[in-house]
Amino acid sequence: MKITKVDAFDLHVPLGRAIADSFNVTDHVGLAGVRLFTDEGIVGTGFTTTLASGDDLIREAIDRYYAPVVMGQDPFQVKKIWHDLYWSKLHWVGRQGITTMAMAAVDIALWDAMAKALGKPLWRVLGGAKDKKIKTYNTDGGWLNKPVDDILEHMKRILDQGWTGVKMKVGKPNPREDYERVRRVRQAIGDNIDLMLDVNQTWDLNTAMVWGKRLEEFDIGWLEEPLHPEDIRSHRILARELNTPIALGEHIYTCQAFRDYLQEEAVEIIQVDVTRVGGITEWMQVAALAGCFNVPVIPHTADAGLVHQHLVAATLNSPMLEHVPFGKDVFKEPVDIREGYLHLPETPGASTDFIPEMFEKYRVA
Ligand code: MG
Repeated sequence: MKITKVDAFDLHVPLGRAIADSFNVTDHVGLAGVRLFTDEGIVGTGFTTTLASGDDLIREAIDRYYAPVVMGQDPFQVKKIWHDLYWSKLHWVGRQGITTMAMAAVDIALWDAMAKALGKPLWRVLGGAKDKKIKTYNTDGGWLNKPVDDILEHMKRILDQGWTGVKMKVGKPNPREDYERVRRVRQAIGDNIDLMLDVNQTWDLNTAMVWGKRLEEFDIGWLEEPLHPEDIRSHRILARELNTPIALGEHIYTCQAFRDYLQEEAVEIIQVDVTRVGGITEWMQVAALAGCFNVPVIPHTADAGLVHQHLVAATLNSPMLEHVPFGKDVFKEPVDIREGYLHLPETPGASTDFIPEMFEKYRVA
């Protein structure tokens, strides 16, 4: 199989509402990616996700720099292609950020093409580790811009649909407000529901030491991204001090950085995201590394869970997947979740195909 045409794209998809964490607010997502056309008629699709900013630069990186590298190559040489992209001309200005996210899109498209050529869903190609369904938790009820009464109502709807795990955002300017919101949520959902908290990087170590500890009384499943993602030292200090596990990874770009976190005992749940870490090739490497440390992988899902469902299904040390509902009207086969469990697809590929009309409708470049 040979790649004969490369089509880099950028979509802006409305969310239908504004959602916020402690440093972002958005009502659109940007889906920057690529379609790889082959001489066998198979088209591989991959994308990465933004808050509808910077996706233009990712598309540009693919179009101008990565497309010439992949043209004429065989998708089954995916690791060689990954290496070629990593050591391409963009190595000088990249290695983390826009270039890694652009690589992720290309790498996902290559794996999608391979799985389609083999006529199997990606999780079976990678080697299944689960039996047809995987557990999910729901992040959608706990946005920081919602008043606590709205959160309680939304969480109730989520629990009524069968989820047994939920996440909420913290990181208000005054942590006392976070404490009160978490107290109300725990009281409302009862003791049998897993409740995770996500700071989205905005605390410093002092705040995290004080408030991370106080919040432990609400039986927190994990404390997510409490601090700046490059501050391994502070995470190590915090991890030793708190009983609540420290989770992070959605803003980490390389397997080397994950290795350092694991080696320093500064992380207890790995949230590696395939759309940020340079694709499936690097994701599998990080998951295997975490497995050697007996640390679970519960990925952040900037891909609406589409690629990650395959990766979790193919990873023994990955017990659960995040669910953030978006893109339902955009993708051909959105994730199929019932009673909190995701039922794995049998369609060949990585589940990244768009509905053609929606693809055209939302395409901005
Ligand atoms: Mg997060």
